[in-house]
Amino acid sequence: MNILKNILFYISVPKCACCGERLLKNELALCKVCKEKYNNLVQFNCSICSKIYSECTCTNRYLDAHFVHKHIKVFRYFQEDKTDETTPPTNALIYSLKQDHRADVLEFLTNEIVRAIRASVSNPESYVFTSVPRRKAAIVEYGFDHAELLARQVAKKLGAKYLKTGYSLAKRAQKKAANSSERITNVKFKLRNPKLDLSSKNVILIDDIVTTGASMGYMATLLKGAGAKAITAASIAIAYRDRSTRFHTGDRFSPK
Ligand SMILES: [Zn+2]
Ligand SMILES: [Zn+2]
Repeated sequence: MNILKNILFYISVPKCACCGERLLKNELALCKVCKEKYNNLVQFNCSICSKIYSECTCTNRYLDAHFVHKHIKVFRYFQEDKTDETTPPTNALIYSLKQDHRADVLEFLTNEIVRAIRASVSNPESYVFTSVPRRKAAIVEYGFDHAELLARQVAKKLGAKYLKTGYSLAKRAQKKAANSSERITNVKFKLRNPKLDLSSKNVILIDDIVTTGASMGYMATLLKGAGAKAITAASIAIAYRDRSTRFHTGDRFSPK
């Protein structure tokens, strides 16, 4: 047998996104042990509605004040305990999505968020899907916008349309704000690009993780300005406490 072929086979064998064990053929993104841990972690309940997260649509106050009255999510992102060396598989999947560009991780998380959307939305194919854009610096660092990849896959799986809106709407808002004293929230955009006209459309806005709701809320405000009827947020994880909003946006695209 060709030695090079063997080497290629070995290095291309996918490893568990959490513990690094080699995966078996029927395993996707996580090994059996990590998948079991994952299955336990997604059983946590929302402290407001008491449903498991993947069936809960509660928002936090920040989102609720920014046109998002329904927030679909899959699990909670855990603040890591510094004394514990092991990363929970839920967190590991988020890191991997951000950094690794792995098709299996993207597929795993797409399936999870699709299932959560189907549980709370009756005709998802009628929605327009879009995503919270990465900061340009983060795209340069990693080479891709993972929230966009995720949103495109989710839309495809649900038979819906993906529309890239982020930078065009943000740029328009900045111009408008520079030209007038109007606050962004009061601006009704005059849209020259009819593709970005969301009049009477219901929108599902996707991100990987909602830390405070600041980026998601800002994006929702822009979508509202572009005419969107109702905006539903959908993220893989939430990191805020159910009733508090902390202001730390990390690599998120944030209102300045
Ligand atoms: Zn594992
Ligand atoms: Zn809830």
